[in-house]
Amino acid sequence: MKVILLGAPASGKGTLTGFIKKEFNAAHISTGDILRDNIARSTELGMKAKEFMDAGKLVPDELIIDIAKDRLSKDDCKESFILDGFPRTIPQAESLEKCLDELGFKLDGVINLNVPEEVLTSRITGRRVCPNCGASFHIETMKPKKEGICDECGTELIHRKDDNAEVFGKRLDEYNKLTAPLVEFYKEKGILKDIPFIEKAEDIFNEVKKELGM
Ligand code: ADP
Repeated sequence: MKVILLGAPASGKGTLTGFIKKEFNAAHISTGDILRDNIARSTELGMKAKEFMDAGKLVPDELIIDIAKDRLSKDDCKESFILDGFPRTIPQAESLEKCLDELGFKLDGVINLNVPEEVLTSRITGRRVCPNCGASFHIETMKPKKEGICDECGTELIHRKDDNAEVFGKRLDEYNKLTAPLVEFYKEKGILKDIPFIEKAEDIFNEVKKELGM
C-alpha cells in the first residue's frame, strides 16, 4: 500500500496511520516527526524549522523536500508507505511526483480526511502524542490505558507545543491557504479518495480500505 494522507491538523492522520501500519506493515513517513526529531537533537535543520513550527507556519519547501526524498529512498518504503504530512504545498507535490517516478513507485491513492472545523478545534488542546512512535491520544475522548503513557510503546506522552488554540488557528489558516489546493490537484489526477467525516477511527480505516479496494 502506497498512500498519501491529506487532512487538516488533528483530522486523524496519525490515528489512521496506526491502523495502516499494523495491518499492512507500511513505513510511516511523517515530516512533522522528522522535524521534531531534528529539533530534539538541535541539528541545523531543527534550528531552522523550529521558529516556523512554533508559529504555526509551514516550514519552507526547500528545507522539507530533500528530507522527504531521502526518507522515501530507504529500503523499508519499497513495498508500502504512508506519507503523513507531506506533500503540503503544490511545489512539494510536484517534486514528489518526480521522485516517485525516479523510484518507479506508483501511488494507490491519496486519502483526504474531511473533518468539520469545530471538531478539529475541540480535539487539538486535549491531544497527547507519543514522541517515540507517533501514536496519538486524547485526554477525554481517546484516553491511553495508563494515564500519560503510550499504549503502543510505553513512552511518556507529551503535549505538543503547537497544540494550543492560538497556534492551531494559524496552522489551520496555513492548511486552508497552502495545503487544501492539493485536494483539487489529486482529484484531477483521478487518485483522490475523499473520506467523509466519520466519528469512529476504526470505521474510517474500514472506509479507507473499501475506497482502495483492499
Ligand atoms: P499536524 O498534521 O498535526 O499539523 P505535523 O506533525 O504534520 O502536524 O506538522 C507539524 C508542523 O511541522 C507543521 O505545522 C509545519 O510547521 C511543519 N511541517 C511538517 N510537515 C511539513 C511539510 N511537508 N511542509 C512544511 N512544513 C511541514
